[in-house]
Amino acid sequence: MTDNSNECIECNELLELLVDYLDGEATEEVRHRIIIHLQDCPRCTRLFWSMRRTVSYCQMESCCDMPSLVHQRLWEALSQELEAEDNQTDA
Ligand SMILES: [Zn+2]
Repeated sequence: MTDNSNECIECNELLELLVDYLDGEATEEVRHRIIIHLQDCPRCTRLFWSMRRTVSYCQMESCCDMPSLVHQRLWEALSQELEAEDNQTDA
């Protein structure tokens, strides 16, 4: 049974929304959902800032449109963050 509430997004879903957001492809509604989630989730807030750093770094470095490369680096950075987070929680 799924509860169709827009205000409670799983962290994994939020990460996908964040990628769109940082691409400038997010709608107003998506941005709103991101903000709501970030207010309640310090973990995603941290990821958000680290993603922003990664994106601006990639944009500076390639300064032409290579979105797939940006995405690839973004996900690499994200999975590293998540692994570090998981390890911390475990230990
Ligand atoms: Zn979250």
